[in-house]
Amino acid sequence: MSVLPPLDVTRIRKDFPILERGMRGKRLAFLDSAASAQKPRPVIDTLSHVYSHEYANIHRGVYELSERATRRYEEAREKVAALLGAASPREIVFTRNATESINLVASSWGRQNVGEGDEILVTHMEHHANIVPWQLLCEERGAKLRVVPIDDDGALCMDELEKRIGPRTRLVSVVHVSNALGTINPVQDIVRIAHERGVPVLLDGAQSVPRMAVDVAALDCEFYVFSGHKLYGPSGIGVLYGKAELLEAMPPYQGGGEMIRTVSFEGSTWNDVPNKFEAGTPAIAEAIGLGAAVDYVRELGLERIARHEAELLDYGTERLLELPGLRLIGTAREKIGVLGFVVDGVHPHDLATILDQHGVAVRAGHHCAQPVMQRFGVPATTRASLGVYNDREDLDQLVEGVREAIEVFR
Ligand code: PLP
Repeated sequence: MSVLPPLDVTRIRKDFPILERGMRGKRLAFLDSAASAQKPRPVIDTLSHVYSHEYANIHRGVYELSERATRRYEEAREKVAALLGAASPREIVFTRNATESINLVASSWGRQNVGEGDEILVTHMEHHANIVPWQLLCEERGAKLRVVPIDDDGALCMDELEKRIGPRTRLVSVVHVSNALGTINPVQDIVRIAHERGVPVLLDGAQSVPRMAVDVAALDCEFYVFSGHKLYGPSGIGVLYGKAELLEAMPPYQGGGEMIRTVSFEGSTWNDVPNKFEAGTPAIAEAIGLGAAVDYVRELGLERIARHEAELLDYGTERLLELPGLRLIGTAREKIGVLGFVVDGVHPHDLATILDQHGVAVRAGHHCAQPVMQRFGVPATTRASLGVYNDREDLDQLVEGVREAIEVFR
């Protein structure tokens, strides 16, 4: 078996210009990649290049620039399809972000397939983006949102999942990796269990796609969503993967230019997928920039990225647990590089403010996962999350900052 070399973080850090700047007179320890990742030079350069040399509206022009921009946009779709292991680029719809991708499915597929008395099954660890669109749909259709509980480590109760899939379950919609807890869900098993009962599955891959190899064909899920900005790409661009036959059967999400084949006052007909779901001028440069981000992470290697994070997660966990009164929220065995914690006597926001003085950028709050906070009986956590550019020094800086906060509040 070949052993992959570890990531060369010293070299990787040079790809991210923002890491060259200091923060409050200190080295910047950026530990908030789960919220949004920083951008490497190839992504920044691609955006600049597109606007300087290749920009025009796409799909409509017959002139060279428009044809070139169209080609680059469609190439980005091919890159995303290859990243996810989709059968065809037709299965990749560009959206604004993971949130819009889920809203698209809830609005289009949901209105067509969910009726009075039906059920949508989510889990207790979902991001609000995978709760609220279903609540809105359920309210409109008279359907019910059901929730799979999680245990004290933040792992999904799989036996409860099985029990909660019933004859009225229309969709199982589950996060692949939790942004608040770091838990990696056994999505292969979840899809198998749901399919045995004839229920389709949506997977929220906002945190998994930047951190591990994902293969939608092997997973066999019906839908998979993620955001470009967490994958070291631009903001304003996201992805919905959907099996072609489902996308084809779904009604349009938004109406306007590009999504139509013909328009008259008597009625309109729709374009083929995926264009049927891309009404109006899309985020052209951002999609092309996402293509550059996909190239970047594939070149580093998603397996190496996963191993890098796992190694740093072990180190960070060990170091944080040295601190008195610190409790980790999210201790599932299968976890990615998210370290959520609370410290006795120190409010998470005060902690994050003190860490900022140390040049450490972390997130404090409910992380758009209020049900997770309720489950663990805390109003908020402080969360350090890892990316390809992080090293042990970042985590040491974090630990020193937390240690000082504990002393200040003692
Ligand atoms: N799902 C998960 C698990 C997330 O972590 C996030 C963002 O933090 C989202 C969905 C929503 O992503 P976006 O705000 O890019 O739409």
